Amino acid sequence: MKQRLLFLGPPGAGKGTQALRLAASHGLLHLSTGDLLRAEVQSGTPLGQEAEAVMARGELVSDQLVLAIVRSRLEGHTGGWLLDGFPRNLSQAEALDALLSELRQEIELVVLMELDDAVLIARLLGRGRADDNEEVIRHRLAVYREQTAPLIQHYRERGQLVAVEASGTVEEIGSRIEAVLS
Ligand code: ADP
Repeated sequence: MKQRLLFLGPPGAGKGTQALRLAASHGLLHLSTGDLLRAEVQSGTPLGQEAEAVMARGELVSDQLVLAIVRSRLEGHTGGWLLDGFPRNLSQAEALDALLSELRQEIELVVLMELDDAVLIARLLGRGRADDNEEVIRHRLAVYREQTAPLIQHYRERGQLVAVEASGTVEEIGSRIEAVLS
């Protein structure tokens, strides 16, 4: 099975839920930049203080800050990994390429989780996180379309991308993902 993975897709597509399941069942390191940033905010670290207001607006935290988080977790890790929520723009993708070549590792597959906007918004509104009010959600979707969606073409051109329909039950979506990884 493929062991070095990226999960790509709009907010609300269920990346975190599927990433947790897959990482647990296959012993992969799950790196969610959103979760790691929220943990920094909770602990009130300088990094968290810098990130908090940006996240509340639905904007992207600085590339430099996010890259430092990812680098510190990937360095020295020898097993498989699953990146969830990173990279989120082309410059993060380029920085990731540079980091991985330095670590002599390669992305084996990018899994794109696809879902309609109406379903995404309904899911996010039901979740009730601090940055899940309607105005911020719409902004996060706009940021996704402008900054993150270009990565689809980037990875498709490299022949690394596979798309999975992200509607249905958690189990159904999980089986579709398992099927593309084998
Ligand atoms: P969602 O997938 O629902 O948008 P995440 O937990 O992935 O939620 O991200 C929440 C917020 O954390 C983002 O809106 C952004 O402010 C910040 N964030 C997460 N990952 C990154 C990243 N790679 N680069 C910049 N900001 C990030």
